[in-house]
Amino acid sequence: MQAEPEYIIVGQGAAGSLLAWFLHAAGKNIQVYEHTNPHASSEVAAGIMNPITGRTFVKSWLYDQLQPFAHQCYQDIQQALGADFYSPFPLVRALPDIKTENDWMAKSAAPEYAGYLNQQALSEQQLASLQGLQAYISLHKSGRCDLKAFKQAMKQWLLSQGLLHESRFDYNKALQSKSKIIFCEGFQVLDNPYFSYLPLQPSKGEVLIVEMPDYQLSGYMVKHDVFIVPLGKQQYWVGSNYDNQFETLAPTETMRTDLVNRLQAAVNHPFTILEHRAGIRPAVRGRKPLLGQHPVHKNLYIFNGLGTKGATLGPYMAKHMTQYLTDAQALMPEVDIQRFAEFLGPQ
Ligand SMILES: Cc1cc2nc3c(=O)[nH]c(=O)nc-3n(C[C@H](O)[C@H](O)[C@H](O)COP(=O)(O)OP(=O)(O)OC[C@H]3O[C@@H](n4cnc5c(N)ncnc54)[C@H](O)[C@@H]3O)c2cc1C
Repeated sequence: MQAEPEYIIVGQGAAGSLLAWFLHAAGKNIQVYEHTNPHASSEVAAGIMNPITGRTFVKSWLYDQLQPFAHQCYQDIQQALGADFYSPFPLVRALPDIKTENDWMAKSAAPEYAGYLNQQALSEQQLASLQGLQAYISLHKSGRCDLKAFKQAMKQWLLSQGLLHESRFDYNKALQSKSKIIFCEGFQVLDNPYFSYLPLQPSKGEVLIVEMPDYQLSGYMVKHDVFIVPLGKQQYWVGSNYDNQFETLAPTETMRTDLVNRLQAAVNHPFTILEHRAGIRPAVRGRKPLLGQHPVHKNLYIFNGLGTKGATLGPYMAKHMTQYLTDAQALMPEVDIQRFAEFLGPQ
């Protein structure tokens, strides 16, 4: 490996992998450092791309641009690497009571939702798999990027190109380096002496991997009291929760019980738990990503804060960051870390 590449990427989760892809495609000389943490967000995420989210049915920020870009990007990478980690996937959202149904009815006529409503109804047999259902919405232009499988495919590619150091990056070397160093560390940016001033609010989520042979919705991602995401072979990803006050990175008995109860309330079938895992999302106050240059140390950059939506945001933001780095294209003010310059202490 070359000693002083033009760019060093620290962290090879979804963010670092995508940035590596675009910088390499732009003909740049890169090296990547990755020290894997089993609780890193990309290791645990479902990778759902969901156009309409939250209790109030909000259209996801920039989704009209982000989704087609992500779709094309993942397909291109799959084709180039001969990998399989992404597929468009319809999404069914349960409306559990009349109030929620009314809330949805009040919003659903807005033109911005029209392109996302899937008119195809579920069959009686499929509906019989769910319980606690007043009504449901069916969405398309949704999808799933299996971020763990994506990481793995990118790792193999980076290794084959001689671009990956499987080790922790040493912060002591950062300031003397002639390289531009882009930190893509997920929640572990909290340990970074240069960027820990940014308002990251790590959010822990726990998930179950279950086997549920009789369940009839293996062709849909389902958002009920929990998300139920098909993994193939009658297995499902079930999650999650948002815990900003966690004391341990490990999975907890409390959340295991909670997830079991929520899944039992949502489906009409027995299931067997195969795995229980926990991951930490790099969430940010204000919920917009963190991109840009350190205000003082000009060879240091960050690409982080993909929060709960890394699968959707990642490709577009990685391309945006690449154009900023290589073509001096301005960053969108909503994502530029300059908005937090006031938080920077004495350097
Ligand atoms: C339970 C759960 C469910 C989720 N579901 C979804 C979903 O359905 N859809 C969606 O879009 N998003 C989802 N997310 C969020 C998604 O996982 C994140 O947005 C995304 O994975 C963030 O990627 P990242 O690369 O920024 O961070 P990470 O995945 O944390 O990757 C950072 C990497 O950098 C490495 N690293 C850190 N510091 C160093 C260092 N100093 N040297 C070397 N390596 C280092 C870490 O070990 C890690 O591998 C979910 C997250 C969780 C936890």
